Amino acid sequence: MCQFCGVDPEFASFFDKEGGNTSVVNGNTNLGDQTAPNYFRLKPDHPRYTKLTTPQLTTFASKLSPSSNVLLASHQGDGFQKASQRWSKQAIKTPMAIVQVASPEDVAKTITLATSHQVPFVVKCGGHSPSGASSVENGLVIDLGLMRQVSVKPEEQLVIADGGCLYGDVCKTTSEYGLACVGGTTSHVGIGGLSLAGGYGYLTGEYGLAVDNIVGAQVVTADGEILWVNEQKHSDLFWAIRGAGNRIAVVTKFIIKAHPMSSQVWGGMIQYSGTQVASVIEALNTWYQQKDVKAAAGVALGKMSDGKAGLTLFPFYNGSQENAEVSFAPLLRLPHLSQELSTMPYWKINTLGDQPGAFSGAYIEFDSANIAPSLETNHIKSMLDLLDDFAVNVDVDGDCNAGAYILLVQPDGIMKQGHSDMAFPWRDDHFDVGVSTAWQKQEQAPKMKTWLHNQFQPLANAQGDKERLYCNHSDFNGPATKEFGVNVGKVQELKTKWDPKDVFRSLL
Ligand SMILES: Cc1cc2nc3c(=O)[nH]c(=O)nc-3n(C[C@H](O)[C@H](O)[C@H](O)COP(=O)(O)OP(=O)(O)OC[C@H]3O[C@@H](n4cnc5c(N)ncnc54)[C@H](O)[C@@H]3O)c2cc1C
Repeated sequence: MCQFCGVDPEFASFFDKEGGNTSVVNGNTNLGDQTAPNYFRLKPDHPRYTKLTTPQLTTFASKLSPSSNVLLASHQGDGFQKASQRWSKQAIKTPMAIVQVASPEDVAKTITLATSHQVPFVVKCGGHSPSGASSVENGLVIDLGLMRQVSVKPEEQLVIADGGCLYGDVCKTTSEYGLACVGGTTSHVGIGGLSLAGGYGYLTGEYGLAVDNIVGAQVVTADGEILWVNEQKHSDLFWAIRGAGNRIAVVTKFIIKAHPMSSQVWGGMIQYSGTQVASVIEALNTWYQQKDVKAAAGVALGKMSDGKAGLTLFPFYNGSQENAEVSFAPLLRLPHLSQELSTMPYWKINTLGDQPGAFSGAYIEFDSANIAPSLETNHIKSMLDLLDDFAVNVDVDGDCNAGAYILLVQPDGIMKQGHSDMAFPWRDDHFDVGVSTAWQKQEQAPKMKTWLHNQFQPLANAQGDKERLYCNHSDFNGPATKEFGVNVGKVQELKTKWDPKDVFRSLL
């Protein structure tokens, strides 16, 4: 008897086979030739066949903690529709149920339910995987969205954050203590996806990647065990979650290093026309060569208000306006299309990239690239030219978009760790580049994806290491050899040890 749904998995699977109404002995109950309940009558080839039925899921829901919710596809209520939303429309799927867990025990029970009934499941934190790594058709979603508590231990400079937190939750709470954690450049991205696979942000030059700052975690394993892991306890699992987390366990609590942060940092946005590419790249290289770890910059390549591809700079300085203006002088003295710069709290700067909010409303695809410094004008110009070509030749309906985001940080923070100190392997000075395309109609998908993966990504990657992918931009679509580099063998070995039945996301 399954302790959660009240049905013996053997019993359910018996009815999955041909026939289906033979007598079954279930514990001490001989059902004889009793007719099987209707909900076991769907055969595996039936489109509505799911292996778990509404009564089973309802019974299961009653075994979870009081503040949890199980939203059923069969009820299709507002709650289910809302919880199915994702940042990219492409990632919206129809699971059989969304389990809004409220405790690690709920996570463990859901994994046990799913695995004992051979139902596929995924874990969802911020829901930003564009192609749908946190959504599943006809399976179970373990939605961590109710688990967003953040506690700060100021004297130890440590943060304990639930596995469902968004980066903004952590930023806001730590700011009250004059502290900050390394995260991404947008507030509504989940710490689950972002931190476990890397996590590049404005503080990376100084303090490394988000994953480098994880000092311990509470995890739920594939067999439903709840474990605390760190360098001393289950150190192999701790090694593996830091880079390959979503392939191996569910992290329900992160213990993260926090760093002193002044009440105000400096940043904002400057837009330059594509015709200025040579002077902007020269100024960026001059700025970067100052090797100031407190300075970072995002460079977005994309369509500007005049319809032509241009450059938007998101400068960041962890310090005073005076020091920031000295650091960014080569860029500040250039003519620009528009500019908005000021001092503001660190949490605020992480909301500047938030538009269009948690749901973009578009179908979006990502890919990963990298660039070895320094930036080359011809390379960036060729990317801008291809984006202009996209607008004219590919975007025939005029409602599609494409772009690249290059993050320039000093390598100091990244290189504090060695290639094999954890599953995340990339320890060098290359700039991380995320490339993307967005479209509005489902039928445009093949054309948009082909253009992104066959034309734009190879061009963006032309000045980088072609054997390397950043999971958070490759969207976990492999190949694992490029996502984990020198660590792929050990990641595979630990995946086999901790997830022998491959119930979490596979290594491709
Ligand atoms: C608008 C936007 C801005 C971004 N900015 C940055 C940036 O500045 N820096 C950067 O490095 N990346 C950035 N990214 C990429 C981002 O890091 C990835 O998309 C990331 O995987 C999203 O995490 P999520 O939790 O929001 O997504 P989800 O879709 O919820 O999860 C992504 C994957 O992680 C797994 N997962 C999530 N939580 C857990 C958990 N607690 N335990 C185990 N597995 C879990 C999911 O199962 C899924 O496989 C950005 C993406 C977007 C869309």
